[in-house]
Amino acid sequence: MMQKNYPSPETFTRTQSAALFETAKQYFPGGVHSPVRAFRSVQGPPVFFEHGEGCHMRDVDGQWYVDFCCSWGPLILGHAEPTVLAYVQETLAHGMSFGTPTPHDLKIGELMLRNHRYIEMVRFVSSGTEAVMSAIRLARGVTGKSKVLKFEGCYHGHVDSLLVKAGSGLVTFGISTSAGIPASFAQETIVAPLADLRAVEEALEMHKNDLACVIIEPIPANNGLLIQDRSYLAALRDMCTRAGVLLIFDEVISGFRAGFEGAAGYYNIQPDIITFGKIIGGGMPVGAYAASRSIMEHVAPMGPVYQAGTLSANPVAMAAGYATLQALLQPGFYESLEEKTAWFCSELTQFCQINNYPVRFPFIGSIFWPTFSSQRIRRADEIDGSGMDHFKVMHLECLKRGVYFGPSGYEVGFISSAHTQADLEFALEKIKASLDVVFA
Ligand SMILES: *Cc1c(COP(=O)(O)O)cnc(C)c1O
Repeated sequence: MMQKNYPSPETFTRTQSAALFETAKQYFPGGVHSPVRAFRSVQGPPVFFEHGEGCHMRDVDGQWYVDFCCSWGPLILGHAEPTVLAYVQETLAHGMSFGTPTPHDLKIGELMLRNHRYIEMVRFVSSGTEAVMSAIRLARGVTGKSKVLKFEGCYHGHVDSLLVKAGSGLVTFGISTSAGIPASFAQETIVAPLADLRAVEEALEMHKNDLACVIIEPIPANNGLLIQDRSYLAALRDMCTRAGVLLIFDEVISGFRAGFEGAAGYYNIQPDIITFGKIIGGGMPVGAYAASRSIMEHVAPMGPVYQAGTLSANPVAMAAGYATLQALLQPGFYESLEEKTAWFCSELTQFCQINNYPVRFPFIGSIFWPTFSSQRIRRADEIDGSGMDHFKVMHLECLKRGVYFGPSGYEVGFISSAHTQADLEFALEKIKASLDVVFA
């Protein structure tokens, strides 16, 4: 094993990264292919990475980091996990794409459906966004209705009608948060706050004859970690059933993360449709949507809801997903991951309490969120934006010490099975030192 050269505040450099970023900005809008990667919410140019191994990544300046971003969630087994790599390489040797059915999607499909009690049939696509977009179309096709209810603080990919925020008021029509979205599309979306059943009741009362579905991240983890109560999600389920509106759990981030059955299993709630992404591809571009047989039978070519994809169920991507999901089914996998996460987060939260730093590290499964507040936060509007200045400093100080967090205070962190006790102890020491700088 190669000696890992971690940066320190004295030696940290971004010379090579900065040079690459200058060139990248000539070629790509903002130098990136997904906005958050541009480091606009933190300090300095983005760090360019070229190698990953377990829970570690090495940047183009030759510095190593313990990674808590894990490619935004997919890498639950860490980087370049040997069994995943081996299976991908074996599959790759036979060709990269056929545009036909292959045995590979059968293998992962069977593994998934056999071990997940809340779904009966699945369709593979190539991203989380595509999964959500298709699930919404399916809900509209099944119900013959058009509107969608979403929650402020939940992210569902860059689907036109879901890139909306609430107006002023409890329940409002969506206001587009991106240029290029016709107002008429945004008007198809109703927005309500999280953790507020009265708002949902009002929305269902007003719009149930037009509403195809309610879509929620059952574990909202794209705008901080806004953990909901089970009773809230259970009530949501009942209200949707009574109103004749489908309930979609967007589990692109929580699927296979909060246990193999994701949030549906964690809370034991049966949604009508579940969307997947991230972990399901084991680091390759895969998404999926799944539901009962009776709902999925509406999808073409069985039914009238059209949805297709040139590279859907790509064999190499399916292989990465299959090898990953198989590892997750090993006895004790989730227990040990959650135990590690609980230990790590309570160490940090305790450290902050002892030092009177207004920071907590709430977690669920193996997702955590450095929260610059002393309160439990369940709604997007409870997040104090000024805490993000603290995050900005923490992010830089952590980088300088060899700990990598996603470059925004609204992003969660992930712990993988590759994070060992020693790696976590290393990271703890560095994060504590960074927080000392933040609050010095
Ligand atoms: C990441 C994510 C998406 C979008 O997935 P992409 O693969 O980035 O298109 C959608 N919904 C949720 C809940 C996500 O976490």
